[in-house]
Amino acid sequence: MAKVWIDGKLVEQQDAKISVFDHGLLYGDGCFEGIRAYGGRVLKLRSHLQRMQRSAEAIRLKPAYSMDQVDRAIRDTLAANGMTDGYIRLIFTRGAGTLGLHPFRCPVSSTIVIADTIQLYPPGLYENGMKVIVAQRPRIPIPCLDPAIKSLNYLNNILAKIEAIDADVLEAIMLNMDGYVSECTGDNIFIVKGREILTPPTEAGILHGVTRQFVMKDIAPALGYSVREKMMRLDEVLQADEVFLTGTAAEIIGVSQIDTHTIGNGAVGPITQELSAEFRRLVTMGAPED
Ligand code: PMP
Repeated sequence: MAKVWIDGKLVEQQDAKISVFDHGLLYGDGCFEGIRAYGGRVLKLRSHLQRMQRSAEAIRLKPAYSMDQVDRAIRDTLAANGMTDGYIRLIFTRGAGTLGLHPFRCPVSSTIVIADTIQLYPPGLYENGMKVIVAQRPRIPIPCLDPAIKSLNYLNNILAKIEAIDADVLEAIMLNMDGYVSECTGDNIFIVKGREILTPPTEAGILHGVTRQFVMKDIAPALGYSVREKMMRLDEVLQADEVFLTGTAAEIIGVSQIDTHTIGNGAVGPITQELSAEFRRLVTMGAPED
């Protein structure tokens, strides 16, 4: 049975409980991170903790623990579960309060760390590329709820994910309200055109993916590529030589088809393959924790 870290204690998973009055449950009021460990090292833990801190600040949630304590909690949870490779979910809820919306009537935020095995997309999709759709539902606009905040309020993504599932695929590209490509429901998007690698910028309304940053700052430069941020229409993505998605769970996965449109020749492109191989090499060598 898995052990879960909750508010300073490691408990059996059936005892890891929060109040039904927690605003994380009542209103999706809180924030989270999905983090991954490879060979006993926690990939980009520093970046994940920084993003968590930014998300908490953006929703004016006061964490109950310092980021150093959270770092320790993550390592303790992995150790308690005898895990060196796996997926870690870090959650700050607003805490238990009254039924009203008032967030500051919840005196103490709850902190949860879950270590679990990773559910990747099926291996065949990494070899042959993944089919995705374009969701009808736009990404929530920045002034309403900035997608850069990794809040517990994921219904915008979930409703787009349901569109994908209804179409028999596992991921959906989301456009922003102005029709520009933003990201997918749980992954960032990149395109390759010639030797250029492009990805939507902050203004498109995206989560600043840690894997996206890893590709832009470490992986692509190591292979002699540079990545440029660009506002892109769907047409530009459909006409790309290669399209790939990045995420902590997904890592790097090629896209073979968008709606009925085949990308490139329909196979995972050579640059996507190169980036994936470099990703694997770096995390196998000793995943960088910065
Ligand atoms: N966009 C969204 C909406 C996500 O939920 C995720 C997964 N956290 C990503 C992009 C990819 O981010 P990361 O590489 O940090 O996992």
